[in-house]
Amino acid sequence: MSPNGDSYPRVNLAERARFRQAQAYEDAIAYRRARLTAPCPACGPARCDAHAADAALIRAYQRAATRSGAHTSG
Ligand SMILES: [Zn+2]
Repeated sequence: MSPNGDSYPRVNLAERARFRQAQAYEDAIAYRRARLTAPCPACGPARCDAHAADAALIRAYQRAATRSGAHTSG
């Protein structure tokens, strides 16, 4: 038990905003990843246009998350 009984970590507004942004990137990446893992008859050795776009978006989200200081898993 903490001495002051405060069980919630204090998170300032900037950190909260960054966390929300990180969460948004995580969600977007997870959504695109799920699309990539679905079987696709149009995908051969190279990805079809739609899935190539998904892969490019994942990379873009990861870059943006890294730039913003957000931490994404993977
Ligand atoms: Zn495809």
